[in-house]
Amino acid sequence: MKMTFNILNQPAECCSTSSSYSTSESSLPIAIIGAGPVGLAAAAQLATKNLPFILFEKGSEVGANIRTWGHVRLFSPWKYNIDQSAKHLLLQTDWQEPNEEIVPTGNELIDQYLIPLANLEMIKPFINTNHEIIAITLKLNDKMKSKNRDSQSFYLYVQSEGEIKTVEVRAVLNATGTWGNPNPAQGNGVWLPEEKSMKARIDYHIPDVEAHQTDYANKKIAVIGGGHSAINSLINLVKLQEKAPDTEITWILRKNSIEQAYGGEQNDALPERGALGLRIRQLVEEDKIKVITPFYISTLIDEGTISIIGNYSEEEITLKGFDRLIVNTGSRPNYTINSELRYSIDPITESVTAIAPLIDPNVHSCGTVRPHGEAELRQPEKDFYVVGSKSYGRAPTFLMATGYEQVRSITSYLAGDVESAKRVELTLPETGVCSSGISGCC
Ligand SMILES: Cc1cc2nc3c(=O)[nH]c(=O)nc-3n(C[C@H](O)[C@H](O)[C@H](O)COP(=O)(O)OP(=O)(O)OC[C@H]3O[C@@H](n4cnc5c(N)ncnc54)[C@H](O)[C@@H]3O)c2cc1C
Repeated sequence: MKMTFNILNQPAECCSTSSSYSTSESSLPIAIIGAGPVGLAAAAQLATKNLPFILFEKGSEVGANIRTWGHVRLFSPWKYNIDQSAKHLLLQTDWQEPNEEIVPTGNELIDQYLIPLANLEMIKPFINTNHEIIAITLKLNDKMKSKNRDSQSFYLYVQSEGEIKTVEVRAVLNATGTWGNPNPAQGNGVWLPEEKSMKARIDYHIPDVEAHQTDYANKKIAVIGGGHSAINSLINLVKLQEKAPDTEITWILRKNSIEQAYGGEQNDALPERGALGLRIRQLVEEDKIKVITPFYISTLIDEGTISIIGNYSEEEITLKGFDRLIVNTGSRPNYTINSELRYSIDPITESVTAIAPLIDPNVHSCGTVRPHGEAELRQPEKDFYVVGSKSYGRAPTFLMATGYEQVRSITSYLAGDVESAKRVELTLPETGVCSSGISGCC
């Protein structure tokens, strides 16, 4: 059964049963897909600008991706984690503003900021959790048809409780992130059936080792990956090793030298991130962790325990006997829902094309990512934008503050304020040290 959104009342029950409803395009809402920090910042921006919007989140709560790593401490303090429009709205309520110098965990980010934001009266009625967007298209045209493209509204196909409904909107901000779509263990990026068949013994996120001790205590574990997620996983495993001394920890990376994984350490402008580098160096030097680098994994084999085959010093070797793997090799965007739209992504990073030269980790360190806005994020499909961490594709350097500026600029443009859309209103922390090692969060 097809259903059409009723614009007059954009309630949490988003989709009216009236298929005969008609309205002018300008009064249609703007759709935000994904209630992560960037999707919610877009909602705050649109509420502030008095533009109608509707937000769809496939998880059962806002910040659903972050909740999966909620036990992990971020590296940026509150002052970089709160969108300015959101802050302005929250300060008009009895919200307790967190101390701006403190670095929250993922759970604190959700509970102390995202949930209060989502509960604001000008935002809450327009959020639909447990609603997954499965496709976006133009009202009348498929991707091939060029006639009248720019004057058409969009149709979203929304799945909820086993039903698929259609919703008509004026513009779309795809803020669906990449966290749910991890890279495999294999060095060449290919997902093989062998790896998929072992998924029950492989974590693709940062596991809460303390809460699930029996999975890791006195086991032989390999952590794969050279970024902050891997470092967080390793530090948690070492904490467990102190209580369960037979826990064996192997760190497998592709870096030419382990020094490259330590990052800026004491020179990092984000001290929490620098501290991760300092701590992991210490643990490696104390032999708490066995390091194998550069190692290029070619396949995994299930031999009761997991064997890892790969190239090390130009020779193929097999590392045997692992009970579990933690694969923290980053994540990649899934663009399936965009496939009936005309969109453009970079062939290397899979980021929005125009920002690729700013963020390609082969070229740039964290500190060199320039803030950018609507002009860089504009897609061939008019009024369709990919924002937030998804706009960076596979590049790992995304910061929430960058996403907040993206949606500030885009929502200004959609409100007709082209001058404001062009302005860059963001100062990022100086973190040029990242060029010496870890580039980005994970
Ligand atoms: C461990 C870790 C630590 C980090 N630390 C920092 C830090 O200190 N500072 C910083 O600035 N950044 C940090 N980041 C990077 C980044 O800011 C976060 O990943 C942030 O969550 C990205 O926000 P987002 O809104 O773009 O995407 P997400 O938070 O990933 O949100 C996307 C949302 O979209 C929903 N969704 C997905 N598909 C659909 C669909 N089809 N329909 C409806 N909803 C959908 C998801 O359920 C999710 O809620 C960190 C990242 C990680 C992984």
